[in-house]
Amino acid sequence: MSIIFGSSDGEKKCKKCGETFKNSRENFGSTPSGGLRNDCRKCVALKSKEYNSHPNRIKNTHIRSTTLGEKFSKTDSSIKKYIWNIQGKRCAYTGVSISLQEAVVDHRISLAKGGLDQMSNLAVCHRQVNAEKHAKTDAEYFDWRRKKNLPCTEEIAKKIPRPRD
Ligand SMILES: [Zn+2]
Repeated sequence: MSIIFGSSDGEKKCKKCGETFKNSRENFGSTPSGGLRNDCRKCVALKSKEYNSHPNRIKNTHIRSTTLGEKFSKTDSSIKKYIWNIQGKRCAYTGVSISLQEAVVDHRISLAKGGLDQMSNLAVCHRQVNAEKHAKTDAEYFDWRRKKNLPCTEEIAKKIPRPRD
């Protein structure tokens, strides 16, 4: 049996709950570098259970950072899927159900008009709708659709978190 640094008699104390267990992967699990974790499996399981049940849970760390308003690119495919899900898999402007393939990420207010490349300024819409909206702001596009008596909804885009508002 190999001697593992910081352990004694093949036992290891959990950094979290302080309980001592046999120093094995069964009790501690492995780290990406191949060592053993400092927290026992029970504590790790409890922590992930808490994390997963959190109402504002956002799994992807990149997405988590963007919801805080940090800059990122709208071409990031995980952002598209994330917003598409929030919008109930519907186009933000027409309310029509769309597939992920049909969906594109749109700046509600284009960068040219001073909109930000941030979560708060993004929506997912059908690619044809995106072409039709072109450089219009979301408000201008809604007006445009209303004048033409085309269906539109402002409710879906409101579901997108706007952390800086
Ligand atoms: Zn523990």
